[in-house]
Amino acid sequence: MPKVTCSLCDSVVEGRTLASPQKLENRIIDLIKQDRPEWEGKRGICAHCLEQYRAKKFIGYLEAEYQKLSELEHAVVSKVTRRGRVSKLVHQDMDTQMTFGEHVADRVAQFGGSWRFISLFGGILVIWMGVNVWVLASHPFDPYPFILLNLVLSTLAALQAPVIMMSQNRQAHKDRVQANQDYEINLMAEIEIRDLHDKLDSLRFKQWHELWHIQKRQIELLEHLCERQANPEAKKPVPTPYVPPEL
Ligand SMILES: [Zn+2]
Repeated sequence: MPKVTCSLCDSVVEGRTLASPQKLENRIIDLIKQDRPEWEGKRGICAHCLEQYRAKKFIGYLEAEYQKLSELEHAVVSKVTRRGRVSKLVHQDMDTQMTFGEHVADRVAQFGGSWRFISLFGGILVIWMGVNVWVLASHPFDPYPFILLNLVLSTLAALQAPVIMMSQNRQAHKDRVQANQDYEINLMAEIEIRDLHDKLDSLRFKQWHELWHIQKRQIELLEHLCERQANPEAKKPVPTPYVPPEL
């Protein structure tokens, strides 16, 4: 047998085990050229090198599939492989991360949107007007048509609007995080259920397989009994004992 060298790793192998470059898949040739730009593809490569590049090709396919997943699905896949937990208390997490300003904004928005605020503010308006019209009728600090009251009200409105918007934005962000988490949980549950289905299917298949073999064994024994009854003189050996099948 003529000995030749592999054009990639220079190891000496038998000539017929060498794979010629004409027979290689284009994808594998591309991979080899990526690693070894100086490789001309004129001489063959050994079986070992071929195996390596074949494995590289399949890893490339798997990686390409993984790249197609979205960022969220990546997170779930890595959690499933680590057997981690997806669910967490979003609201608690968010509350501990909140700054003082955000807490205040929440409280102000909560108070500003209550009947308590409306009745309290209505009361203040009535008192303000009452004091200026009747109590301090001779020297009112804000005579009719209550221009100072107007200024106070517009200032209050100007401040209250951004505070409420701040609080609403944060609420929307919280809802978005919660929705994302719900999706992750659903996806993970789906994956786990599929996993369980596969396990059940394989268990059922195994059981059927065993049952079928038991039945075969029973038929063998019955046939043996029938034969022995038909001609008791012929000493036929009992069939070999049943051995559970390997799957
Ligand atoms: Zn080689």
